[in-house]
Amino acid sequence: MIKLKEGTAKWEHFGEISPKLGEVFFSFYSKLKDYGVNDITVTSIIRHKADDSGVHAVGRAIDIRADFDYNSIGKYAMEYINQKYTYDIARGELKTCVYHSTSTYGDEGLHYHLQTRK
Ligand SMILES: [Zn+2]
Repeated sequence: MIKLKEGTAKWEHFGEISPKLGEVFFSFYSKLKDYGVNDITVTSIIRHKADDSGVHAVGRAIDIRADFDYNSIGKYAMEYINQKYTYDIARGELKTCVYHSTSTYGDEGLHYHLQTRK
């Protein structure tokens, strides 16, 4: 089940994300299910303020809480996404899936950030 963090992620936000991001999100979720993770929590989709890359403000990013193990699950799901989806061919250092913490936005903590260019 896909759960939404109260207050920061709403179902209507799924209608505001890019179609490509929707594809990436469900691909990530599907891969997690392969590893036995059925429940995930989306913590943030649209943020109406600029973040470090601005991608949330325009519906090209979605955050998923890291409440499953990174070493046995998360990093493999992340590698799968980054091999399947190139974020920007001209800027290879930027990835479609990033595992990080954004202390700028309170105590969101470690999460998986998925982003697309369109
Ligand atoms: Zn994010």
